[in-house]
Amino acid sequence: MNLELSEEQEAVRKLAEDFVAREVAPHVIAWDRAENVDRSIVKKLGALGFLGLTVPEEYGGSGGDHLTYCLVTEELGRGDSSVRGIVSVSLGLVAKTIASWGSDQQKRQWLPRLTSGEAVGCFGLTEPGTGSDAGNLATRAVRDGGNYVINGTKTFITNGTWADVVLLFARTNEAPGHRGVSAFLVPADNPGLTRRAIHGKLGLRGQATAELVLEDVRVPVDTLLGPEGKGFTVAMSALAKGRMSVAAGCVGIAQAALDAAVRYAGEREQFGKGIAGHQLVQELLSDISVDVEAARLLTWRVADLIDRGQEFATAASQAKLYASEAAVRCASNALQVFGGYGYIDEYPVGKLLRDARVMTLYEGTSQIQKLIIGRALTGVSAF
Ligand code: FAD
Repeated sequence: MNLELSEEQEAVRKLAEDFVAREVAPHVIAWDRAENVDRSIVKKLGALGFLGLTVPEEYGGSGGDHLTYCLVTEELGRGDSSVRGIVSVSLGLVAKTIASWGSDQQKRQWLPRLTSGEAVGCFGLTEPGTGSDAGNLATRAVRDGGNYVINGTKTFITNGTWADVVLLFARTNEAPGHRGVSAFLVPADNPGLTRRAIHGKLGLRGQATAELVLEDVRVPVDTLLGPEGKGFTVAMSALAKGRMSVAAGCVGIAQAALDAAVRYAGEREQFGKGIAGHQLVQELLSDISVDVEAARLLTWRVADLIDRGQEFATAASQAKLYASEAAVRCASNALQVFGGYGYIDEYPVGKLLRDARVMTLYEGTSQIQKLIIGRALTGVSAF
């Protein structure tokens, strides 16, 4: 693998870095305190092509390879994980899944709107009773002539209150032992679909997270995404690529922690000298830097495998597992460098730690990633 970025990749990375400095960094503390990212950021992300990366240009995407997608995701994650998550879900989990599984009509209906930022997508898999065991979901879609009628509840849905379209997973086959899950593209303004914002999150506070309740939501048969009964495969294929995006966001958190800790260590003095000159502070900084590089290399490897058309699901779980745990360690080590000031939200590292913590939980907890990796190593499923 060539680890040197092409001129084009570096130019897009720099575009993302400048965008974050201009449009995100000045607002990060306020958005976190208000529990609300300014929604106008979505159109700005779309205007730069960041919501269309890897989506074919004929459907309004900006094309590009997966390494470029990782570079942009890392820069957004370095700036604000709430903003990064908007892209990872609307593009990474929804638009890219429509691009892979959708009919031509579905692609034309949704992709230009999602990639321009005119519309936002959300991914509705988790339910109150089923998180890690997502295949056991209880939401039901019953066929009624040319329609399906859907009933159920989804929770923890990122972009949930903002979304125009829900990539929704529901059971369509009741046969015992049959997964029978299907994927649907449900317009969010559909009568019968109500949403409730979830407040009080530890991190990602700026992000619109919601519970969705579906009561007799009626959608035409042509809203099925992929074949009937193949919805679990659709969900897992989306999540495998999504894990690369989470990992790239974690690299961004870890890099932000390193930058902040090195800067602060260069400014703060204790015991008559700069704390950068204390060996145990250097140990903290050096540990962070190794985690940053290791997480980045694992993440880039996934991008390289995808771009070369190779099998990547296990590598994506490895990258997501390592990068998410590393992001928590890096943010915690950076907070240690800041001492008491790290505990106050005027300084950046406390938020990095709060935002990092959820990365070990969503799109498969660390335990679930270990089961996926263990199954690949042994051929034995321990789920
Ligand atoms: P549980 O599955 O109940 O797990 C609890 C504990 O048990 C965990 O430690 C877990 O690792 C462990 N565990 C479970 N099964 C096993 C096993 N077989 N072996 C070992 N340990 C096990 N979901 C969506 O569908 N769309 C979204 O956009 C979305 N966004 C989210 C945003 C946020 C901020 C959060 C917090 C969650 C989001 N989720 C979303 C849900 C997320 O994917 C789930 O929280 C996650 O899958 C874990 O499910 P759970 O919370 O029900 O935990």
